[in-house]
Amino acid sequence: MTYPIPLDTLLIELADFCNLKCVMCDMSEEGRRRHGHLNPEKPVHGTQGRFLPFLSFKSIIDSINSSSIHAGIISLFWLGEPMINPDINKMLDYLNKHMKNIDGWMIHTNGQVLSGETLKLIFESKGQNTLHFSIDASSPEVYSKIRRGGNYALLIENIQKTLNFRKKTPSDNLKLVLQFITMEENKQDGKEFIEFWSNEFRKRGLPFSVARNYFQHCQNTIFIRQEIAKPDLQAKANQLHQETADELGVEK
Ligand code: SF4
Repeated sequence: MTYPIPLDTLLIELADFCNLKCVMCDMSEEGRRRHGHLNPEKPVHGTQGRFLPFLSFKSIIDSINSSSIHAGIISLFWLGEPMINPDINKMLDYLNKHMKNIDGWMIHTNGQVLSGETLKLIFESKGQNTLHFSIDASSPEVYSKIRRGGNYALLIENIQKTLNFRKKTPSDNLKLVLQFITMEENKQDGKEFIEFWSNEFRKRGLPFSVARNYFQHCQNTIFIRQEIAKPDLQAKANQLHQETADELGVEK
């Protein structure tokens, strides 16, 4: 056995449910139908609508720190929306002070819940961290068809707030990703999506890149990504992604 024991990624689910019902996500009945689940009306993995309590979170982090484990990344979500956990600030604060055997964290969020205090803690954090916003549209109409239950204006406001923090807070360790999953429902929005967010980065003097895969990510990334589907549908999703990314001129 090699010590410390290396783990690439450790998943910690802060909320086993979501405040949205996106059409391509297994957290929604529609997503489960789209991906051919046998019982789409049933929530996946027996999710029960619960938050991870702060004390359990603390105990996980403490046990990693006192173990022989070295974690590359802890993903602060699996299937649910992490920012809706009412203890998110306490958890980020705890990580900021006690991240010992962990290189960094990753958060994927729909950007509907994001306070100034949360952003402050995110930008104060050490380690190689990634904050990832799922957007998938450049208009409220398309957004509301895909990210059901979400508020597009609120999302844009929260990302703009994040970019303002980025501008005034030097934090080379934090990667910021603005994501667009290519789907039939939104492919017409891709061009405007790239233009809009490029402009938001440019007007704050922030360098950025446009990527089509994870290896191309840099500090600030506009990410054109493929939908993750069941194996028999994945080839189609990959093809649509490739065609859309080619059409948008995203480098390979
Ligand atoms: S916001 Fe994310 S977790 Fe929630 S339903 Fe949409 S894709 Fe799924």
